[in-house]
Amino acid sequence: MTFGSWRAVWLVVGVLLSSGLAAPARAQAPGPAKVAVRAARLFDGKNAKPLSNAVVLLEGNRIQAVGSNLAIPEGTRVLDLGDVTLMPGLIDTHSHLLLNVEMGNGGEGSSMELIIARMSTAERALLGAKMGRELLEAGVTTVRDVGNSGVNGDLALRNAIQRGWVEGPRISACTRALAAHGGQFGVIQQPVQGLIEQEYVTVTGVDEARRAVRQAVYDGADCIKVIVDNGYNFLSVEELKVIVEEAHRMKRPVAAHTTKDESIRAAVEAGVDSIEHGYSMPDDVLTPMVRKRIFLVPTVGPLEVCDEFPPELGDAETRRAMAERCRKLAVKGYERTRRALAAGVRLAAGSDMYFAVPGMTRGETTVRALSASGEAGVPPVDVLRSMTANAAELLRMQDQVGTLEAGKLADLVAVKGDPLKDLKALRQVRFVMKDGQVVVDAREAQRAPVAAPPR
Ligand SMILES: [Zn+2]
Repeated sequence: MTFGSWRAVWLVVGVLLSSGLAAPARAQAPGPAKVAVRAARLFDGKNAKPLSNAVVLLEGNRIQAVGSNLAIPEGTRVLDLGDVTLMPGLIDTHSHLLLNVEMGNGGEGSSMELIIARMSTAERALLGAKMGRELLEAGVTTVRDVGNSGVNGDLALRNAIQRGWVEGPRISACTRALAAHGGQFGVIQQPVQGLIEQEYVTVTGVDEARRAVRQAVYDGADCIKVIVDNGYNFLSVEELKVIVEEAHRMKRPVAAHTTKDESIRAAVEAGVDSIEHGYSMPDDVLTPMVRKRIFLVPTVGPLEVCDEFPPELGDAETRRAMAERCRKLAVKGYERTRRALAAGVRLAAGSDMYFAVPGMTRGETTVRALSASGEAGVPPVDVLRSMTANAAELLRMQDQVGTLEAGKLADLVAVKGDPLKDLKALRQVRFVMKDGQVVVDAREAQRAPVAAPPR
C-alpha cells in the first residue's frame, strides 16, 4: 500500500471519529471530576492565620470552595493529605529555564557566552523542559521567564507545556530582553557581535525601543524584560518611558534589571512594574516605588549555599575567598530587602536561578532562593505572600493563581510542617497539583508495595 492511500484511510477514520458515526451514541458526558483535598492546615496566599481542618473543593481544574470542615458533596473523590500545610502553587517571578550555566568552567561569564554560541534555541527549549519538570516537582507551578532563552525559546516551551506535550509550570514568557548596546555580553570581537541579538534585542533611541516592544508582543510575549544598565551603556529615561507606554498599552508588565543608582532611578521614574535585583537602591527611590506600586524582586541568595562550593571550583583558599564574597553579597541583599520592606515596598519572589548547583535539582535551588528573604528577617508570612499572592499580582495573573479562593485554578502544593513558622518546611513537598492534575503525591509512594528482592 502506498503512503497516499494510507493517508486516505486515516482521513476517513478521522472524519468518522470526529463526526461520531463510528461509535454508537454515547451517554451524556459526565461533568468535570469533583475532588476534595483535605489537609490539617491551609495558607491561602494572604491570611497570616492558617485555616485548620482545611477542605478545598475542586471541579475539573477550578477551585469551587475553600473552608474549615466543609461538607463534602456526594460523588466527590477525597484526597486526604493528613498533617501537612496546603498552599497555593508557588510562583517564581524571575526564572531562566533555558539557561543552566555550569560554574567553574572558564568563569561564569565566558561559560554563558559559550553556551549561547554553541547551543541552538531548540536544544535550550529541551533543557527548559527538564528545568520546568524539576520546578514543578518542587511545588513551583507558575514562573515568569525573564529572558536568556535564545530567540523565543521560552515561547516554544510555554506553548509545549500549555498543549500538554511536556510537563512543567505555567509560563509567563518575556522573550528576548531589551537592552542597551552590547546586551549583557562581555566585550567580544566585531565579527561575532551578531550573537548578541540571539539573546537580547539591543535598542538605541525611542523608535527602536517602541519597535522592540511591538515585536515582542507580536511574537507572543506576556511580559517585557529590560536591562537598564549593562556595565557599558544605559537606557535613557526617554527610551524606558516609551517601553513602559507600549507595554502597558498591551497590558504587559515591565520588569527592569537594575544594578546602579542611576538605572534604578530611571526605571522608577519611567514607571516599570518591578525592579529586578536592585543591587543598588538609594533611599530616594523607595517612596516613589511605594507610590507607584512598583514591586521589588530582590533575588537574594540563601546564605547557606556560600558554604557549599564544591571542590571542583578550586582549592580550599579559592573556595574560602568565594564563600566570603558570597556571604558579603547575601548580607548586602538582606540589608536592601529589609530597608525596602520597612519603607512599604512590596516584595515579589524571584529566584534568578540560571546555574547548576551540584547535587541539587533546579527546583530545590529555586525554592531555597525564593525563601531566602526570610534569612533577611522578613516575616515568614510576607515571604510566603511574595511567592504567591504578590507574585501573581505582578504577573497580572491574580484572577487565576496566587491564592486559594473559589474560581481560581487548582494549583496546590502541600508541605510537611508549617512554613508560617519555619520556611524550611517548603523543602518537604508532599503533594503538587497543577491545573487540577496531580503531579506529586508522596502518599502513593508510601503506599506502594515493596518491590520484590532481586533474584
Ligand atoms: Zn536574571
